[in-house]
Amino acid sequence: MLGGMHIASKLPDVGTTIFTVMSQLAARHGALNLGQGFPDFEGPPELFEAIARHLAGGRNQYAPMAGVPALREQIALKTRALYGREVDPETEVTVTSGATEALYAAFAAVLQPGDEVILLDPCYDSYAPAVELNGGRCVRIPLRLPDFAVDWQRVADAVTARTRMLLVNSPHNPAGAVLDAGDLDRLAEIVRDTRILVVSDEVYEHIVFDGARHESVLRHGELAQRSFVVSSFGKTYHCTGWKVGYCVAPAALSAEFRKVHQYLTFCTFHAAQCALADVLASIPAHYLDLPAFYQGKRDFFRAAMAGSRFELLPVPGGYFQLADYSAISDMDDLAFCEWLCARHKVAAIPLSPFYERPPGSRLVRLCFAKGEDTLAAAADRLRAV
Ligand code: PMP
Ligand code: GLN
Repeated sequence: MLGGMHIASKLPDVGTTIFTVMSQLAARHGALNLGQGFPDFEGPPELFEAIARHLAGGRNQYAPMAGVPALREQIALKTRALYGREVDPETEVTVTSGATEALYAAFAAVLQPGDEVILLDPCYDSYAPAVELNGGRCVRIPLRLPDFAVDWQRVADAVTARTRMLLVNSPHNPAGAVLDAGDLDRLAEIVRDTRILVVSDEVYEHIVFDGARHESVLRHGELAQRSFVVSSFGKTYHCTGWKVGYCVAPAALSAEFRKVHQYLTFCTFHAAQCALADVLASIPAHYLDLPAFYQGKRDFFRAAMAGSRFELLPVPGGYFQLADYSAISDMDDLAFCEWLCARHKVAAIPLSPFYERPPGSRLVRLCFAKGEDTLAAAADRLRAV
């Protein structure tokens, strides 16, 4: 409190995000950081050549508010090629400063005080604060253990006259679960004849394994009509620090979304947008090859962990491995991660911060978006636990 300068917190229960906390702890202990989700390798060289060209070429002032036209065009082409949906880049695609901004803008555009938003726990930590800052109330439904499937009956039972939005995330952070076409049909049944809008967080859309396909909400004609579909180039092009994402939504929703976006950030890093437009067009193989690329990392890490006392859960998608440490310790997950980092020099993320009411499971999240040297060294340390 600064004499008389105290403000009532709008987020009284929120501290510093677990990703920042664990990255700081990793740095303090000189630990290998499998905590915060980011690659320790670079994106394609073409991307760096392109951004250097655009920086030198003068793309250093404000970008168009809704996004560089060439990038929106490429997003629309990709949406048609992958998900069979025609979207109008002029009115239905908006480039944002990361998926985080897109999620926030979707809630801010729609929510009125007291509106309810259904979140499925565990879920990414920015959702609930973004809902609450915009006057919404979160209704949190747990995913089923141990497979983190959606219990659609519980979701249906949670719908009230105040339910305004429902958020799905596939592939899922932190669990790696993926929705299938049947899930989307159940979701469509639940929201049919209601005023519920869907927010679909698809930032890991290109990271789905074992031959499965990503069931984007954009494939689903009925759902696409009432959805904000959010993605991030940070995941797809290994450049999380650039913070470039986007939102695809029907024109009427996009119009309201843009009213928020124009006052939240106005526009997104200009040269990065130009460079991403270039590589989307010139090397589509980059994202088409991403499932095999990350499946190789998943399999390498799991093989390197063979013989450890951690029990590894299946990973259908995304770039996180959940590991059960029940055979090692009965510490709670935060204490276990602090101990693991200090004692064994590997940073992991506990699962409880992803829940409103943590179920008391003994699970940690390990990011395998790392080079093989890092993964092998981390697995050596984890096998010794
Ligand atoms: N949603 C999920 C599920 C994520 O994991 C992340 C970041 N890792 C984001 C949204 C935010 O993405 P961005 O960094 O593009 O803001
Ligand atoms: N999305 C990343 C993760 O889940 C972290 C992003 C962040 O640190 N805000 O680890």
